[in-house]
Amino acid sequence: MNLDSRLTQLKGVGEKIAVLFEKLGIETIEELLAYYPKDYETYEKPVFVREIKEEGMVTIKGRVAAPPILKHSGKLQIVTAILQDETGSIQANWFQMPYLKKTLPLGKIFYFRGKVRTKNGFWTMEQPKFYKEEQYSILEKQCQPKYLLTKGMTDQGMSGWIGQALHEVFLPDYLEEIREKYELLSYEEAIKNIHFPENREMLIKARERLVFDEFFLFIWAMKKLKTSQRAVYHSFPMEEKAEMKRFIEDLPYSLTKAQAKVWEDVKKDFLSPFVMNRLLQGDVGSGKTVIAILALLFTSLNGYQGAFMVPTEVLAKQHLASMEEFFSHIGMEIKIDLLTGSMTQKEKKQVYEKIKSGETNIILGTHALFQERVVYKNLALVITDEQHRFGVKQREALSQKGGEPHILVMSATPIPRTLAIILYGDLDISVIDELPALRLPIKNCVVDVGLRQKAYTFILKEIEKGRQAYIICPMVEASEAISGENVLEYTNMLRKEFPDNIQIAYLHGKMKAQEKNQVMEAFSSNKIQVLVSTTVIEVGVNVPNASVMMVENAERFGLAQLHQLRGRVGRGTHQSYCIFLSGNKNKETMERLDILNHSNDGFYIAKEDMKKRGAGELFGLRQSGTLDFKIGDIYLDGEILKKASRAADNLLKEDPAFENHILLQTRLDSYSKGRTKNLNL
Ligand code: ADP
Ligand code: MG
Repeated sequence: MNLDSRLTQLKGVGEKIAVLFEKLGIETIEELLAYYPKDYETYEKPVFVREIKEEGMVTIKGRVAAPPILKHSGKLQIVTAILQDETGSIQANWFQMPYLKKTLPLGKIFYFRGKVRTKNGFWTMEQPKFYKEEQYSILEKQCQPKYLLTKGMTDQGMSGWIGQALHEVFLPDYLEEIREKYELLSYEEAIKNIHFPENREMLIKARERLVFDEFFLFIWAMKKLKTSQRAVYHSFPMEEKAEMKRFIEDLPYSLTKAQAKVWEDVKKDFLSPFVMNRLLQGDVGSGKTVIAILALLFTSLNGYQGAFMVPTEVLAKQHLASMEEFFSHIGMEIKIDLLTGSMTQKEKKQVYEKIKSGETNIILGTHALFQERVVYKNLALVITDEQHRFGVKQREALSQKGGEPHILVMSATPIPRTLAIILYGDLDISVIDELPALRLPIKNCVVDVGLRQKAYTFILKEIEKGRQAYIICPMVEASEAISGENVLEYTNMLRKEFPDNIQIAYLHGKMKAQEKNQVMEAFSSNKIQVLVSTTVIEVGVNVPNASVMMVENAERFGLAQLHQLRGRVGRGTHQSYCIFLSGNKNKETMERLDILNHSNDGFYIAKEDMKKRGAGELFGLRQSGTLDFKIGDIYLDGEILKKASRAADNLLKEDPAFENHILLQTRLDSYSKGRTKNLNL
């Protein structure tokens, strides 16, 4: 067995299970070993009942105080018992386990571990498992991996197979020659400990090594790309157009200094002989869209096509509407077409035709823009907004569609310049570092649910003034398992609560694209005054007339996410407000949310958030790192990122042909191939 072997080489993995693995994207032993746990089951130190203040997994050391009771509720059989320690007692419930009535250990000290929940100030523990002291003290020292699995697989099974693979294959360390210099675990130790941590320190070290690998490979590939593309000439000669000046003068506002500077950067690129690869960074609300519009217009006026890729259809429609208005204002004949996933085949075909013939100047849409069927006549510019990095592969695919176009990537991911330079090393960077003038800072408050009625009164007043409001709920519909506000019931409740003349609608990710579009359009044109939504609203939507953002169960969201949500208001000239309602009065929660009160700096917020969530979060590896990294997190791992960048620089300097680093060369080659494989295009 070696790293390339198929999984069926493992004992106990037949074709059936191999199919399940395929669903997870795992086909080889190498991929199996690189499938890191999403979290670890850790057994916490027991707490006193009196200390329980937050919902979640908890262990208490106590006894069953009185004989358990068996209740029936419909088909449900519930055993309840009172668990007691020195400081108090809590009710425990077990479902569909009637035999526990007889077998629960009465009176003796045990460790009970289960999820605690609160309803109307009454705490319960759900389905606790119980352990003797000796058992629990062993568990406390371990942490068991938990994986993201599909139906038919278990964590035990997965651990077993990974253990088997680790036992049988040899794991070469492609960083052997340099790892000591950068204080890294060997690859083998790291892989072993990420799956089966010896202890906490080793887990942290293992993670560090794997994060380093991820950053290092990424940075190296990018630096190579940069070297190889430095001298790419483009085939889209352009010239300055008088209409641009007119257009800019005709905008309903004047460009900020930062915007004007960025536009100069972009224009200089267009007029230079080399292909543009530029990142435009600017916090939410800084006004990136108009730069995109200027670039697209300039390209069209010069007789080429430009494509603008955005993450959602709602956003595509919104941009379409505003561009059409802008252009018609000054009587410009620019043809814009929309291309999105929800269009019918027939509609798409028509658009394909127009793109091919060159009738369309600007193509606006989602991922559909880059499907194979789309043939451009003379695509000179591609802009992507708020989306993941525009990968190497996409660029290749595009250049196969014609000459290599100019690329402008727009991002609101707040990162300091030093890190941006590393992460986007293949791009030139422009920053919009000021908000449009006349923009009043958003007023924030973090309150508990007791002030909800006051918040409603406030929202009604804003609506009277002609403004609109967003209300965010964490869930779409009611759920047995999780408590928290949900969009559907909330909307109904609010329709009763608010006067009839106020239109209230909802928006969530499960709705059809067309329904979503309708709702967004109605909200944009103030036919709807209150929009109750999940976080689908988070990305890029622009309704400058909305002045209130209220977030229910704010404690459920990450601060970075709340910051993005907050960015949906304060986009016009009106004073805007953000109300974060916390369903949890816990001191730590309030402190965490309070960070939002003190800062508008997205990076600072994201970083503080990570610090506060701290070790727990680090321990449970987040599967969705930022910026497409699997486990690396730029907020948490900035130092590792810098280290990896230094390492890549040194290597490229010392041994550019990899004469002394054969293993490394092989690894880098397979990385480049793997990247190509994983990018869905
Ligand atoms: P983001 O950078 O988040 O994409 P947008 O481009 O959507 O921001 O701009 C946010 C809002 O600011 C929009 O309503 C836009 O019309 C407005 N805006 C953009 N530039 C200016 C400016 N220079 N002066 C005033 N308002 C502006
Ligand atoms: Mg935007």
